[in-house]
Amino acid sequence: MSDGGTRKRVLIVDDEPANVHALASALRDQCLLSFATSGAKALELASAGGVDLVLLDVVMPGMDGFEVCRRLKAEPSTRAIPVIFVTALGDAEDETRGFDVGGVDYIAKPIRPGIVRARVRTHLELKTARDLLEQLALLDALTGIANRRRFDEALEHEWQRAHRARTWLTLGILDVDHFKKFNDHYGHAEGDRCLRAVAQAAAAALRRPADLIARFGGEEFAFILPDSGPAGSGAVVRDLLDRIRALGLAHAASPTVERVTVSAGVISLMPEAVPLGASSAMVSADRLLYEAKQNGRARAILLDFSTGARSELLEAPSDGLVA
Ligand SMILES: [Mg+2]
Repeated sequence: MSDGGTRKRVLIVDDEPANVHALASALRDQCLLSFATSGAKALELASAGGVDLVLLDVVMPGMDGFEVCRRLKAEPSTRAIPVIFVTALGDAEDETRGFDVGGVDYIAKPIRPGIVRARVRTHLELKTARDLLEQLALLDALTGIANRRRFDEALEHEWQRAHRARTWLTLGILDVDHFKKFNDHYGHAEGDRCLRAVAQAAAAALRRPADLIARFGGEEFAFILPDSGPAGSGAVVRDLLDRIRALGLAHAASPTVERVTVSAGVISLMPEAVPLGASSAMVSADRLLYEAKQNGRARAILLDFSTGARSELLEAPSDGLVA
């Protein structure tokens, strides 16, 4: 992925080297460049990653530009790359076809360098803005961690991945105890600060790149630990509870203990070996969370779905909380 501070990479695709050279000399100072002289090579380079825009010849032997574009748009990893057709056809029907297969613009041959630069600049700027919006759409505005939409996408993806790879997956739901009482007592601004602090503390306990925690709604958070079974997830949840406790946020209105605590339900399973889908697994985690609340809050209940074994982790056993 490239950000606003780095130069963007444009992939130039044309079966005639003279055309490749003409486009390259127009863009050399503005962009990083890659080249392909066939549709197959273009697809290979694009799916390898790092391409921000494609300039695509229409008439090529073998796979033509329309087919290359159609395949780029059919593939999730290359779908977002804007494609500008470069063509001498100048035919309204062909232009329409180019837009139909997902192209964003046309440049006519013989090319004029100023036009090429302007069109490429415009579409790179649009792509940067779209990427930013996409990122923002997946973040929770209050806490800065992932939002529910991002979580749902990741859950689907990780569930399928774990299913194929026959690996463990751990899912958890976390809820701030007596949060309504906290808001009533301290006000909503403090409530927001509390949620941000809990989100950051919980996020800090999830250390591997693929681990994900999201705000699920209200004072509820959910997390995914890919490749993590009962032992590994137990350590993460222990660390998470310790970090919440270390925040030491006062909660004078809590009947549990006079600081902010959380309850959690956590399930570890191998998707390939269970008769459940991802959403049923989340329902199970939610039931465990409910049980943790019933048992006195400030604790996590963990279930190893393969054996049915449960364990209960108290947030702070020394606080006099009853197990
Ligand atoms: Mg050609």
